[in-house]
Amino acid sequence: MRELSRRVGLFTDSVIRRMTRISNAYGAINLSQGFPDFDPPREVLDALAKAAYGGPHQYSVTFGAPNLRAALAEKYGRSMGRAIDPDTEIIVTCGSTEAMICAMMTICNPGDRVIVFSPFYENYGADAILSGAEPVYVPLVPPAYGFDLSQIEQGLRDGAKALILCNPSNPSGKVFTRAELESIAELCIRYDAYVVTDEVYEHMVYDPYVHVHMASLPGMAERTVTCSSLSKTFSMTGWRLGYLIGPASVIESAKKVHDFLTVGAPAPLQEAATAGLRLPASYYDGLKALYTEKRDRFCAGLDRIGLAHNVPQGSYFVLIDISEFLATDRFKGWTDLAFCEWMIRTVGVAAVPGSSFFREPVNHLIRLHFARQDEVLDEALRRLEKLRDYR
Ligand code: GLN
Repeated sequence: MRELSRRVGLFTDSVIRRMTRISNAYGAINLSQGFPDFDPPREVLDALAKAAYGGPHQYSVTFGAPNLRAALAEKYGRSMGRAIDPDTEIIVTCGSTEAMICAMMTICNPGDRVIVFSPFYENYGADAILSGAEPVYVPLVPPAYGFDLSQIEQGLRDGAKALILCNPSNPSGKVFTRAELESIAELCIRYDAYVVTDEVYEHMVYDPYVHVHMASLPGMAERTVTCSSLSKTFSMTGWRLGYLIGPASVIESAKKVHDFLTVGAPAPLQEAATAGLRLPASYYDGLKALYTEKRDRFCAGLDRIGLAHNVPQGSYFVLIDISEFLATDRFKGWTDLAFCEWMIRTVGVAAVPGSSFFREPVNHLIRLHFARQDEVLDEALRRLEKLRDYR
């Protein structure tokens, strides 16, 4: 048989999704792939029931149901501080996963350079390969996950066409400050680069940190493609509803990419999800309070066990430092992947090896998430206590 596309040989399957499959095979508590184990808001479920019998059941407008785009334009018009045209500046996609690849394929020619912070959400690596772009990595250095602005400038000076910004950041939980965003924005304007953002955790930002849209900074609306989704905000990761918001000039081309990639996101789900976007502001306050509590509960549990970890400023991920285990005879020379597989089998809790997020040779971090009901988190913590026996 003839060889397959060389592109597909350049990346592996998703380690995050692989860990979920292994976790399921062993019946472990899955704190690897980030998704909640609770349901979308009641109003959304009622709207879904209504859509089941009242429709729509056929294709919506390819770039998104008018109701949903109108609701998104209203919500983001408020938070970005500018009027957003739902017809020319928004595309509804199958999750932000499609939004990101759509943005990359719209912006990049083969060989174009794109700046990616490391650690990064693994999709960006595959997105770059699929769109022909060449990633240029800028480290976010643990434990504070700060970065060196001159490295971004160097990348832009060398011709990088775009920068990918995950804010709040997966897996580090970093929330970029306004000053950091302004400094990046200033460079992107100076070197005429696009910014593609991934803001799916925008409503999981913990006090005193605040979420600032890159697109809301002066001069950035015209060069930023904001990608986000309803998955995390409304606990509906399986609905696969995401979107791009950007300048009409980019969105016009992105509409073509989206149309031929997927035609459109599921019509009845778009209709039902609109009910979520119509909820009052108190919904988002409640979500933040819920996740703040879960973060504190989980981190306090990790402290009780004595596991070294970061405290995320945003998102629902925690990175645990496993250096102390890797230093013992039992685990000497182990990879973080082997450790995670062992942990699934022996402890009954699934995590993602940190190496799948870092460009640098990092082998001492594993990522867990806390989007679980309290009793599940408590049981996971009870199981993690077993790690004490292996110090
Ligand atoms: N963003 C989530 C994570 O990092 C998962 C998203 C996905 O698997 N599509 O775990």
